[in-house]
Amino acid sequence: MAQTQTLQVDPTLMKRLKKFGAFDVGACFDCGNCTAICPLSSTSTVFPRKMISYAQLGLEGKILESPDMWLCDYCGECSRTCPRQAEPSEFMMAARRFAVSKYTPTPISRMIFSSNAFTLLFMSVTALIPIGLFAALTIPSGPQSANMFSFIPEDLIHYAGIGMGLAVGLAVLIGVTRMHRRITSGMRLAGQKGPGLKEWVKQLVPTVFKESLVQSRSKECKTNPTLSERLTGRWFNHMTIFWGFLGLLVSTALRFLVVPTNGNVVPLTDPVRLLGTASGILLTYGTLGIMVARLTKSEVSTKHTLFTDWVFLVLLLLAGLSGFVLEAFDYGSMPWLTDSALAAHLLVVFELLILAPFTKFAHAIYRPFAIWIARAYQRI
Ligand code: SF4
Ligand code: SF4
Repeated sequence: MAQTQTLQVDPTLMKRLKKFGAFDVGACFDCGNCTAICPLSSTSTVFPRKMISYAQLGLEGKILESPDMWLCDYCGECSRTCPRQAEPSEFMMAARRFAVSKYTPTPISRMIFSSNAFTLLFMSVTALIPIGLFAALTIPSGPQSANMFSFIPEDLIHYAGIGMGLAVGLAVLIGVTRMHRRITSGMRLAGQKGPGLKEWVKQLVPTVFKESLVQSRSKECKTNPTLSERLTGRWFNHMTIFWGFLGLLVSTALRFLVVPTNGNVVPLTDPVRLLGTASGILLTYGTLGIMVARLTKSEVSTKHTLFTDWVFLVLLLLAGLSGFVLEAFDYGSMPWLTDSALAAHLLVVFELLILAPFTKFAHAIYRPFAIWIARAYQRI
């Protein structure tokens, strides 16, 4: 039997949500076209109209209990065909940002999404951490400097990276746990029985494979795409970024755990270096593709880009490019330039990671996790 729920109505909800995205659902006249046209909406997951109704009624709890904004693939079809230009797809993205700001354990996410000045301030203040460390711990490189790690010991970089990864992972874990609690409580209130452990395990593999490794829901959004559309479209760009980032993580872990440089210059043909270089190319390609689409506004889904979206994309691009510049200086035996490039590269990666739990980066974890819940509850 479904549990009863006291609904709390907040008349300021729509105003608060508007800080998270460019939409105008005040213009919506409830025609339902967006839900009818959405390729991912179904009888068990009806969106985006239902989510818009929750916002119009001031039902914050209902929004946070819904996995729907994570099931949306931001294809933009609903916005393209909305007769009132209410931008329902932008509303779905705003709902995601709103949810991330509610699930994360500090107000940082809300402040980052709603204030560009705060974003810049946060980045400037946090940048002082690596800059201070560089100043305090670096080994001055001399003309005899043999490789990039003469500037900062390789082990120090790796241990700092692990510490950073654990801190970021903890923040994301808290957020995901809160999301899980809200969504599953919403499912129970709707009368749905919780799945057993067997069902959770059964749905884990298809979720990881389909939603993260090949991101097949994105392909469902486009009817019969041509090969060229596939290779230049959102799906391909997202895939290259995902695999590029994963490849860079793996190559960094291998370098640390299996084949450390031990102070030697690593040849370009070294397998770990090759993996890192190929992954850097993928990351840079996908990021540039998305930036071009957003600059040219070539798709409905690229019409509106928040400042934080640009920050994320620029940091991703700089992470890839600074890695290549670093390699070039290292091979050119230019110690001073190598040291500067390494400092810049580490600073960019630090900012990318420290912002990860609070910005668009977070969707890489929240989205597959929400889809896993929806699968386990047989909503999709
Ligand atoms: S298509 Fe536009 S006007 Fe119609 S319900 Fe959706 S958002 Fe509202
Ligand atoms: S953006 Fe695409 S997937 Fe998302 S609600 Fe609109 S039509 Fe559906």
